[in-house]
Amino acid sequence: MTQDLAAENRRLREQLAQLLAQAEKNQRILQKHQAFDLQFISAGSLRELLDTVFDTFASSAGLHVVTLTLLDPDYDIRRILVDLGIQQTEFPHLLFLQEEAEFGELAGKLFKPVLGTYSEELHGRVFPEPIVPPASVAILPLVRHGKLIGCMNLGSDDTKRFAPALSTEFIEHLASIIAICVENVINTERLKHIGLTDPLTGVNNRRYIERRLLEEIGRSWRQSYALSCMYIDIDYFKRINDRMGHQAGDEVLRGVAARIKAELRLSDALGRFGGEEFVVLLIDTEQVDAVNVAERIRLGIAEHPLVLLNGQKLDVTVSLGVAALDTKARAEDVEAAAQRLVAQADQALYRAKEAGRNRVIAAG
Ligand code: GH3
Ligand code: MG
Ligand code: MG
Repeated sequence: MTQDLAAENRRLREQLAQLLAQAEKNQRILQKHQAFDLQFISAGSLRELLDTVFDTFASSAGLHVVTLTLLDPDYDIRRILVDLGIQQTEFPHLLFLQEEAEFGELAGKLFKPVLGTYSEELHGRVFPEPIVPPASVAILPLVRHGKLIGCMNLGSDDTKRFAPALSTEFIEHLASIIAICVENVINTERLKHIGLTDPLTGVNNRRYIERRLLEEIGRSWRQSYALSCMYIDIDYFKRINDRMGHQAGDEVLRGVAARIKAELRLSDALGRFGGEEFVVLLIDTEQVDAVNVAERIRLGIAEHPLVLLNGQKLDVTVSLGVAALDTKARAEDVEAAAQRLVAQADQALYRAKEAGRNRVIAAG
């Protein structure tokens, strides 16, 4: 009898110890999951969210690879990346598809997580070369408002990590958090973009250029590269408005913005500074090279009349002032250097006007 009781006691103790161990393990898993949730939710920008998904999450979850596939039928998201100055090569695990059909064999399966050993036919689209194929994968559909917006793809080099029979509760929760966060940061970036764009011409506005200039000056000091600034003003614009009407004036502003943009690199920043004035920041560009670009812009506008919507042709010219960031300026603060750079380009522009317009003048 005592023996029975002792055995029973031992069994209960063992059970209790097991339950406690399980409870502690669950607690740890839960804490880890909550930490992931918090990290994703607190990402304030698209770049931060992508860093969290591809670096922080992938390494702390012990995954071989994580990719994120987004459906981007109208190139909306890719355009945002360009506007943010994010090169696609920075995030090789961020993939875009035009439509669901491009998922290939996965397409019909994306209503719940797809778990199992890796197969090229089924999973190749979401782990494309040069990614080393994982051993087992979990494909998590990202759904917002009943619509598939993409999927997050987890790859492990452990064949058993994502066994088809595994409970998908945690990864489904993860997928719903990621879907919300992706939608959120994209909307936030869109809003930021609207606040930094000139609605008439579609180029950046003054606020954007002023902000970007501070960033670029800091970067050009740190990385020791040249930075040039161009101030552009349409000649006799008031006359165009007076003779042809305000609407035609607006068309000229759009046309001139497009002509300027056509001569710039993707890394340069063009903004409408106000009225009929534009400012361009030329990254990693010495003043002599900026003058050449300015001359190309001037010719591109002067030598080809703008054609208005009513078919009317209009000869338009611009004057341009060019200045480069002074290396001596390193001694002053970034704001003062920014003001000085724009003021120098503006003064050069003033001299171009004085000298008869339709010309480029360099500062100094
Ligand atoms: P200059 O060759 O010396 O630059 O002469 P200008 O006539 O271009 O210079 P001014 O600065 O006197 O004229 C700028 C005109 O731009 C005055 C203003 O009515 C017009 N303007 C400013 N913003 C807009 C706009 O958004 N749309 C249109 N259509 N006109 C604008
Ligand atoms: Mg003006
Ligand atoms: Mg003008």
